[in-house]
Amino acid sequence: MMPSRFGQHSIHRHLAKVGAFITGVVGGVFLLILLGVSLVSSREELLESTSALASVLASNLTASVAFRDPGTAAELLNGLHSAPDVIRASLTLPDGSAFAEFGQADLSLSDGVNVRYAETLIIPVALEGERIASLSVVVDLWPVYQRLIGVSVLAGLLWLAGVLAAYLLSKALNARVTQPLASLAAMMAEVTAREDYSRRFSYRENNELGLVVEAFNELMMRTEDREQRMESMIAALVKARDDAEAAARSKTSFLANMSHEIRTPMNGVMGMIALLKRSHMSEQQSAYFETIERSSEALLTIIDDILDFTKIEAGRLILIQEPLDLVDSIASIEALFSETAKQKGLQLHVDIGEGVPRQIVGDPGRIRQVLLNLIGNAIKFTDEGSVSVFVRRIHDDVSPRLRFNIEDTGPGIHPEDEERIFGEFFQADVSLTRAHGGTGLGLAIARQLATLMEGSIGYQSNPVGGSIFVFEIPLLETPPGEAFDRAISAVTASQARAEAARLARLTNADAADAAPEIAQKANGSAPRYDVKVLIAEDSEVNQFIIRELLADFVTDIEVVADGVAAVETFKSKAFDLVLMDIQMPKMDGLEATRQIRALQRTESINPGCLIVGLSAHAMSSDREKYLAEGMADYLTKPVRPTALQEVLDAYFETRSL
Ligand code: ADP
Repeated sequence: MMPSRFGQHSIHRHLAKVGAFITGVVGGVFLLILLGVSLVSSREELLESTSALASVLASNLTASVAFRDPGTAAELLNGLHSAPDVIRASLTLPDGSAFAEFGQADLSLSDGVNVRYAETLIIPVALEGERIASLSVVVDLWPVYQRLIGVSVLAGLLWLAGVLAAYLLSKALNARVTQPLASLAAMMAEVTAREDYSRRFSYRENNELGLVVEAFNELMMRTEDREQRMESMIAALVKARDDAEAAARSKTSFLANMSHEIRTPMNGVMGMIALLKRSHMSEQQSAYFETIERSSEALLTIIDDILDFTKIEAGRLILIQEPLDLVDSIASIEALFSETAKQKGLQLHVDIGEGVPRQIVGDPGRIRQVLLNLIGNAIKFTDEGSVSVFVRRIHDDVSPRLRFNIEDTGPGIHPEDEERIFGEFFQADVSLTRAHGGTGLGLAIARQLATLMEGSIGYQSNPVGGSIFVFEIPLLETPPGEAFDRAISAVTASQARAEAARLARLTNADAADAAPEIAQKANGSAPRYDVKVLIAEDSEVNQFIIRELLADFVTDIEVVADGVAAVETFKSKAFDLVLMDIQMPKMDGLEATRQIRALQRTESINPGCLIVGLSAHAMSSDREKYLAEGMADYLTKPVRPTALQEVLDAYFETRSL
């Protein structure tokens, strides 16, 4: 049997004690009753037999008393020898005088007699109904008690043996239950400690404990199964996490490296443009260079955004802390945007509240970058109304803060997108943002910069319609009296140009690809076609490139910037060919094609006019989609002069003009 670690407190011992106790109590009570009954009956029996003997003796003594013969009486009394329990007898006359006696007069002197346990029986001696003497017989009850004590001792010993036997027996029987329980508990403890759920408990008996063991084994089986599933899930998750982390790392380093690699030759390109622009050029060449320059600047802006973003993601962007003239800085931003705002017919207000210090400490370049992005967006997305910038000092916190509210009356942001616009590469309204350009990185960078400055940036919808962007940073003032000779907020000419380019966000890098071909086309003697062409294209640069490319082959060209204008213009002239961009604001190219085809069918407007799609998507499945909408063909951007000529060759005859 396995030693129990609970010692005195084990169930097994406890149950054995209970068994022994019950046996002891029941056996003890039974024994006591038995001893009591036997004591009473032995005593009664002795007294009765002595009393019968004394009665016989009393009738024999009648003659001796009647004839006053004490000798005979004494002889008769002596006959009591044969009754060992009678220790004394005396015959007394009615007047109280002793007539005859047997045994010691003083009982305490007789041998082995315990006076306390002696009992006296008085039997009358009568003659013809008259009492002539009294026979008193003293019976010694001590031997009866002695016998009973002996029996009691024996019974007590037997009782003890019984209790012990009950204890041992129930202990042995209980062990059959408690031992497997103890082993089960030990196994559970081991399983818990080692987390090894493959163990099973074996117990063959078909009883309640068997059910417990069965349930335990079932539990172990299920736990083991779940453990295995969890382990494989964890392994899969860990792998997925590692893969994702590795992918994120390689994405970040790829973006950082690529941005860096592209930036270097781009700087060369920009430098060469600057040099070339100084040489003498025709008006057309100047226009080409203008396009190249704008495209290069836009590309640089994107690369700069990506570089910033990857730097922040990789934790490599270090903020500087230096004094800056806030009022000057805001004034220069206002000056930068005032022209664009005026061109768009927007009111641009700047309101610097009382208590806003002129000089603060912070990273001037990064604060400026965030404000440029927010104010730039506000102006970019607002077509009418105003853009207001409020600068306030906030006191409601332990440390003072500076709050910039940039409010516009533009289209606002859908509640669903309010948080998402701060995610990378997210643009809320694709057609709107396509119309305005951009990368979808500006706000993501602005928020990360705000966080790095221990500030925040958030969006609220403007109650009068439009957006409110709230940018907050901790207010660190320059110590009073410190010379403020390091104001670095003045914008250099080149910075202003770069920021203006960032604002314009002309993303059509295609222009750079297509430009050399534009230059080439002037040299060859291209065939001419008598064809009226409508170009529907939203990007100014692409409009310019396509128009320039087409100008070699045809003379009659109209350009529109969206689908709605395309449909309208289509009705106004006998066009032979429509070059239709697919993605355009207001109405996309597919819808415009549908409407033009409907006009051709139902109203017979320019029924022979062909529609050729222009798409940046090179997916082959797109081709079927465009042709199904009624387009005759489609060209991928950047459009090459040869591709254009192929289309014209295929559908139109050359004419000498
Ligand atoms: P980008 O301007 O280059 O597209 P941003 O990260 O600066 O990228 O902005 C993300 C998107 O948030 C924008 O494309 C536009 O949909 C939305 N957005 C930002 N500012 C405004 C604004 N003032 N009004 C309306 N929409 C805005």
